[in-house]
Amino acid sequence: MDHFVSIKDLTDYELMHLIKLSDKMDNNGDAPFKEQLFAGNLFFEPSTRTKMSFLVAERKLGIEVLDFHNETSSTKKGESVYDTAKTFESIGASFLVIRHPVNNMAQQLAEQINIPIINAGDGTGEHPTQCLLDLYTIYQEFQEFQGLNIAIAGDIKHSRVARSNAYALQTLGANVFLSCKKEWQDKSLDFTYMELDQAVKTCDVIMLLRVQEERHKQHDRLNKTSYLSQYGLTKERANNMLNHAIIMHPAPVNRGVEIDSELVECKQSRIFKQMENGVKARMAVIYHLFQSRGISYGNYNQKCQPSIVQ
Ligand code: ASP
Repeated sequence: MDHFVSIKDLTDYELMHLIKLSDKMDNNGDAPFKEQLFAGNLFFEPSTRTKMSFLVAERKLGIEVLDFHNETSSTKKGESVYDTAKTFESIGASFLVIRHPVNNMAQQLAEQINIPIINAGDGTGEHPTQCLLDLYTIYQEFQEFQGLNIAIAGDIKHSRVARSNAYALQTLGANVFLSCKKEWQDKSLDFTYMELDQAVKTCDVIMLLRVQEERHKQHDRLNKTSYLSQYGLTKERANNMLNHAIIMHPAPVNRGVEIDSELVECKQSRIFKQMENGVKARMAVIYHLFQSRGISYGNYNQKCQPSIVQ
């Protein structure tokens, strides 16, 4: 694996390997790399969880983080994303983590830059590390994917999380259903649509999505109260969920819009567990990228033999 830009690049075997590797990641104090690595975290869009969990993951792996703030960087003098990335490469960054509002930005850089690129979210394109932490969270719960019914519900059209998760879960053998208001259906995603009322009664995982207002046209303003009752996870709908079913959301959560505020931390919610798992999933991605380059020591990997996906 040279870069980590799209979940579509990975087979079921590779996905399982990364899920199991995430589970083995801990902070045992061993330096897992044969040389000092430097990370460039280039965030051109707001982020709390992704940015901070990359930072924690990098520090736990003994990586030096090069501080970058878009607002005070030379991008404000007109420097392009490519020149910014090339600068980081030239001054010794070992890899780049990039979040950008333009679809395929990480993919483009991966073709132009000689160090590994990790996609931390590109526009409405993909969010592969969010996907990995979501897969890891589901695996912790059910220990398999084959035959699981998973509903992804919310702003499908504008969500990079929906895209990455739908592809990956299908690759792993889950039955993926999408649920949203008509205007947010996405014709490029070939999955069955289902009403949320139906999904809560039949699905093992209800994965909610944030309403992506920053990607909507100005005149598309939403009535938030009626959105919850029509399309969100209300307490009434949650009461109809299967006993073993779990609630997920990549966050940030709009409490009272996609989900009733009281459900965010209820027994069936794994929303904060997802965040916790994000650190390990990101450690696994970085470790694996440098293992392919012969720079990681084998200790994590010995503990982690991927099994065949059933
Ligand atoms: N944090 C996720 C993302 O950056 C989900 C969201 O913002 O809705 O895509």
